[in-house]
Amino acid sequence: MDDFGSLLQTALQNSGLPYLSIRSMQNPQWPLNFERLCGTYNDPELEYDGESGNISAEVSTLSMHGGAIAYTCKDGAKVYKATLKALEGHGYYDSKKAVECAKAALAIHPVCPEAYNVLAIHDASNYEEALEIYSVFLPRAYHRGLFGVGNTLRKMGKFKEALVYYEKLAVLDQNPGSSSMSYMNYNAHLPELWLRVYGPQECLKRALKYKNKDCIEYHSCQIPWYANLTLALFAADHVTTYDFPEAKPRPANPDFTKEAVQSRMAPLYLLRNHPLVCELLTGMRRMPGGRIPTNFPGSESLLQAAVYATSCLDLWEQTPGALEYLRKMTNTQILGDKMAKGVDMTNPIIEVAPLLKLIDDGIFPNALHIGEEASHEPLLHMAIFQRPGADIIIEKLIAAGANVKIQVGPGLTALHKACYYACGRAVIRSLVNAGLSPLLRSPAGVVLRKPIMMAAEQGNWEELDECLNLLRTGNSEDLHKSILYVITSSSCIECVGGGAKCGRCANGDKKHGPNVSYTKMVDIIVERGCRLDEIELEGVKSGIGKRPGPLDDLGKGKCFIETVSWLPERT
Ligand SMILES: [Zn+2]
Ligand SMILES: [Zn+2]
Repeated sequence: MDDFGSLLQTALQNSGLPYLSIRSMQNPQWPLNFERLCGTYNDPELEYDGESGNISAEVSTLSMHGGAIAYTCKDGAKVYKATLKALEGHGYYDSKKAVECAKAALAIHPVCPEAYNVLAIHDASNYEEALEIYSVFLPRAYHRGLFGVGNTLRKMGKFKEALVYYEKLAVLDQNPGSSSMSYMNYNAHLPELWLRVYGPQECLKRALKYKNKDCIEYHSCQIPWYANLTLALFAADHVTTYDFPEAKPRPANPDFTKEAVQSRMAPLYLLRNHPLVCELLTGMRRMPGGRIPTNFPGSESLLQAAVYATSCLDLWEQTPGALEYLRKMTNTQILGDKMAKGVDMTNPIIEVAPLLKLIDDGIFPNALHIGEEASHEPLLHMAIFQRPGADIIIEKLIAAGANVKIQVGPGLTALHKACYYACGRAVIRSLVNAGLSPLLRSPAGVVLRKPIMMAAEQGNWEELDECLNLLRTGNSEDLHKSILYVITSSSCIECVGGGAKCGRCANGDKKHGPNVSYTKMVDIIVERGCRLDEIELEGVKSGIGKRPGPLDDLGKGKCFIETVSWLPERT
């Protein structure tokens, strides 16, 4: 055994620790000096921070490890000094300076595993050389050596051999004496290796055994776990479309792997948290090239997305249909996110062209989009609120295969909502032309107004008028009378006039539109020839009578005054 080996062995024995390890750098890629991102384009948004070091954290953790060696070695002080010197090397983006540090460290004392780590990263000019350097301290059960070899084998495409080292690390990590010191995020690569070596089913099975703290709590794990579990779910035929019935607002301590795998929500986590990686994988965004810094910015960084794509794009490409699925998922999420802004009617101005482009590029048209607070909203129900262009978007969605009859809650179609929220004549026309009836009956056992009655109740005269115009059958005297009863008994009359709040306003729902007019609605009915006999008049009057309040608006229309003279005189 050489000097290094025997000294380290002694140090280990004397320390009572099974393994010695030093805090890893944040980037589990451990990029070697010659490695590059797989693109050829220089993306100015790529987050480089010049010097790579986050050395303060390393040094503070090191004092423990260096100390452990130092106190137990005959040359303790020197060993400690050498390790500090080697760590300094991680602070340089300039490889020459890093290598100088490593060599200086080894000159201070040969028991300096960290120096070999620096040499592998900064001095190797290919994977074989790196492997050789890592192997120097591999036999001494040194975490970084094991990971260096495993990770390098992974990058060389020798996945089976690589996995052996990763599995060894997982065993070591269960030992509290070592795990508390390692911080080495080898976990980031596990799903990739499981997928490559064992296939999707086994990958999902193994992932389920992991708890949050073993995986996604490291920010550098999120993309590779979300993305590779998404790919595994797709490859195992567990997901085919945008469908997340179990999505809820995030609980305080989610059981990530259970939700991601069993509830099949990995794709949703990926889409919502890491759109950049979806855009890179699907070619929606150009893949950047360039050197890979050792220091990782946050999990939402372009750099992390690009590092993942560099490692795993081939896996996606090899899985038939996977990139097509991801592209449609990404477009669906973006489309829903964009339209969610238009649903908030206080901010109604949108650009239509980008939305149409997403639909053309491929979406899942019947998706229930998962929005903020985990709302589940069909794309069609969101489209009706977009201004301008709602009708164009609706027609495009239907042409792309959206089911116009899709319902939410107690049987609400997009037409119910368009009538209730006054989405305009064009929206009503496109929905009715696509096959929804203003007289649509509610599902059995559900008390729900017909779409046309929702327009009537809410005072949305334009939508009511358009519904009546579009009715081919059923435009009868009976219908007109029913509408009149709904109008005159609506609690919104009082609310719109500034009186007691109606149910809609009391619940904090969207405000009544600016275009509400009960007068115009009564006119519309009367213009269509509706006349009431005495008993019917009494019925209508009693409806109004229950609602004393500001009815100023009602009954002033010309037609109405001429044909219905029973309204109470206003003073
Ligand atoms: Zn109301
Ligand atoms: Zn109201």
